[in-house]
Amino acid sequence: MIKSMSGYRTIHSKIEEELDRLIKMSRDIHGHPEVGGEEYFASDLITAYLKEMGFKVWRGVGGLKTAFMATYGEEGYHIGFCSEYDALPEIGHGCGHNLIAIAAVAAGVALAAALEGRPGRVSVIGTPDEEDHGGKVDLVRTGVFDDINAAMMFHPSCSTRINVTSLACCDYRFIFHGKNAHAAIEPWEGRNALDAVIQTFNGINALRQHLKEDVRVHGIITEGGLATNVIPDRSVAEFLVRARDSVGLEEAVEKVTACARGAATATGTTLEIEQSDYPYEAMCSNNVLADVFAESLPQAGYTVQSAQTGEVGSIDMGNVSRVTPSIYPLLALTDQWVPRHTPEFAALCNTEKAYDVMLAAGRAMAITGLKVFDSPVLQEKIKEEFSNLKQN
Ligand SMILES: [Zn+2]
Ligand SMILES: [Zn+2]
Repeated sequence: MIKSMSGYRTIHSKIEEELDRLIKMSRDIHGHPEVGGEEYFASDLITAYLKEMGFKVWRGVGGLKTAFMATYGEEGYHIGFCSEYDALPEIGHGCGHNLIAIAAVAAGVALAAALEGRPGRVSVIGTPDEEDHGGKVDLVRTGVFDDINAAMMFHPSCSTRINVTSLACCDYRFIFHGKNAHAAIEPWEGRNALDAVIQTFNGINALRQHLKEDVRVHGIITEGGLATNVIPDRSVAEFLVRARDSVGLEEAVEKVTACARGAATATGTTLEIEQSDYPYEAMCSNNVLADVFAESLPQAGYTVQSAQTGEVGSIDMGNVSRVTPSIYPLLALTDQWVPRHTPEFAALCNTEKAYDVMLAAGRAMAITGLKVFDSPVLQEKIKEEFSNLKQN
């Protein structure tokens, strides 16, 4: 216990000591937004800092140029903090990943300092391209998380939610092949691929009455013909299908693709289906770890107004939560509602209040890590909950 007390003090004093540099790094990343897969500035900045702090750094892990693994400590229980640093095209840091990036770094350096001779390993894992491609899907596939006993990250938001779940998600492209014909002289010679897309949307809209509450289907038309006087011989629609778990997702996908098949039959066109190779799995928050984090928030200097459980859209941390016990708490930056992925949220993520929350998140994750390092009982409980999840 006495050892823990001094550990908490070290966490606070280390973050205090590094405060200016941590905030500067987050500000610099905010001022230099990079889209997914191109985050060279952010990954250079963070890895250089972590090297200086005594971490061993491996860059380009999982085959992703801007990913990295930075580890402190040689052996024992291994805690990983996920750092995201990609921005949105044109909007910049409208999802606040500049805060996620440095909260993980703050947690990493503070927990590393608090090890104070304990066995244990602390890693900051640089996970690029969350917004578009889902970098963590690659990192999970290539085994980057295999050695991690517990993984944590935080996401800025406008409401505080600790036990966050997310929807499993996959995207599909329906490509219809028809036959061109003059639209006025001999339309009967044509096979209208655009009609097939329209029928697909109508079929899906009729299907909505029969979909479960958690299912989301949303699509766009990306190709719909080239000239009004030509029956389109090619038309393409893209859909995202989401559900609370992979079984529900599979059921929904079967019904959605049946709509596209039916539309092809009705219009005499042929259908080609492309499926994304990057399905997001549903996030399953580890309750034991989440409870320790919730308890640690006041110690970290963050007052929770009204913590709720809740759901976010779809996140690549979901895939991590399937291979290692994980949490993905959302912490409110403000009590006003500012929608994410907007210039307003980007502006909010470069305020003093936002940097306060970022550092509180870093402290809370480090304190959570220290409690887990110091308690074999907690380690066992976290593992047990995760094993039960895997069996179900
Ligand atoms: Zn986002
Ligand atoms: Zn985000």
